[in-house]
Amino acid sequence: AKNSARGSSIIFSEEHESLIRKKSEVELALTQSIKQEQICIHYQPIVDGQTGEILGFESLARWFHPELGKIPPDQFIMIAEKNGMITQITLHLFELAIQNLKQWPEPLYLSFNLSANDVINRATLAKLTGILDKHHVQANRVQFEITETTMMADLEQCSHITREMQKQGFLVALDDFGSGYSSLSYLHKLAFDTLKIDRSFVNNIQQNQRSRGVIKTILELCSSFEVQCTAEGVETAAQRDLLLELGCKNMQGYYFYRPAAIESFELTSQ
Ligand code: C2E
Ligand code: CA
Ligand code: CA
Ligand code: CA
Repeated sequence: AKNSARGSSIIFSEEHESLIRKKSEVELALTQSIKQEQICIHYQPIVDGQTGEILGFESLARWFHPELGKIPPDQFIMIAEKNGMITQITLHLFELAIQNLKQWPEPLYLSFNLSANDVINRATLAKLTGILDKHHVQANRVQFEITETTMMADLEQCSHITREMQKQGFLVALDDFGSGYSSLSYLHKLAFDTLKIDRSFVNNIQQNQRSRGVIKTILELCSSFEVQCTAEGVETAAQRDLLLELGCKNMQGYYFYRPAAIESFELTSQ
């Protein structure tokens, strides 16, 4: 027993070591990623669920490293938040996204994900605005997506900065709604224009009466708050139909479009 215990602890520490090695490899690679043009953006349309018309695009970061391969955004964003690179990455992505947005016919808009650090750092907002100004793009064509978890972590600061964003003309979306604490008591304190229903509810909408009930309640909430609502992760026609029945207009998901390079969307025919 003693031997096997020691054996497993050796295996564990080797695994642990290789994990650490992998992590610092990724960290190191991340510092080179921007300069080597490995980070780019894919876009996923936000559509009118009834007509399928594209209303706007959410930008989703993509990192492809020649040796490490594809590293998922939630992973490298988390690393960047810890090692202090996040602001640099956010600004780089925003610059790329605004260059694309400039080519899109109005009223198509950009929905851009911000991390917690971006929201907490006031100077970042000024830099984001600086990029808009440089390209002569109006703030009302940009929506910032901030997750419920981020908002909850620092309610005071977040409500402050989202109000500031709105004052400057930006739209604000409360992302992944329902995936975090789901406490409704804080909602009235927050300034936002759109609420994005987390895809876990949409996922269960057919099998689970309660998910339907939750979505119905969220939609009622949105209409009483006079904010827009977008359902994320719509994968089937049946899900779309149920959402339409419940009165949800804006949708996003694989059923309509998967995230892809901007060139794959025909924007001129709109
Ligand atoms: P998110 O903001 O909730 O983005 C939606 C995620 O769901 C994306 O994953 C998207 O590809 C995926 N998705 C869209 N439709 C469907 C569907 O019908 N079914 C399923 N199963 N999934 C769907 P992705 O691109 O891997 O991004 C994951 C997360 O990484 C994002 O979640 C966001 O939190 C973060 N992220 C991505 N890009 C950025 C960025 O530029 N900045 C920041 N701060 N975070 C980002
Ligand atoms: Ca998002
Ligand atoms: Ca989301
Ligand atoms: Ca998410």
